[in-house]
Amino acid sequence: MISCEDVPGHPDFRSLLSIAGVSVDLRYATPDNFVGHPVYGGLDCNYLRREAGDALEKAAAWLAAHRPGYSLLVLDALRPQRVQELLWSELAGTPLTLYLANPERGSIHSFGMAVDVTLLDAQGREVDMGTGFDEMTLASHPEYEVELMAQGQLSAAHLAERGWLRAAMRQAGFHGISTEWWHFDFGDRVAVRRDLPRVM
Ligand SMILES: [Zn+2]
Repeated sequence: MISCEDVPGHPDFRSLLSIAGVSVDLRYATPDNFVGHPVYGGLDCNYLRREAGDALEKAAAWLAAHRPGYSLLVLDALRPQRVQELLWSELAGTPLTLYLANPERGSIHSFGMAVDVTLLDAQGREVDMGTGFDEMTLASHPEYEVELMAQGQLSAAHLAERGWLRAAMRQAGFHGISTEWWHFDFGDRVAVRRDLPRVM
């Protein structure tokens, strides 16, 4: 394991602030999150593991080439174990734990191998994806989006925007998940948990 305080300057990690076409607004460092107050408490979490950071750079470059003017906005990246435990305790005992990895098992975010990301348009505005980041409803689940579009709860434009985000991330080697349109893992989750150090 590695302490979050030792990540800046560590050769295995890459700062998100160094990547062209990527803006960063870590929502857990602000009151704008489901807890309602900042949970990063001065920790510098603007990092991914180097391999994931390099892939994010590829995703941003692909997007710039295929959809000029559009760019990526990172909403969360490296999330230390201590913060995962805090978020878990906020949701404990509610069905919303579906949206969070049990800290005992470990979130892929805590290895610096997962990123929460959305699109910015040519004016730098967050693109409407149908639901907001960390909105814990079925309309955030990629697995239900076609059904919800059929029922008028999501629009074709929402699905197209999610499609652009997914296309950019997938071609760079990220994998989406079935429950959150904004979340992408890099690499195999089993191997990440088995082989990489957790950031505490
Ligand atoms: Zn995530």
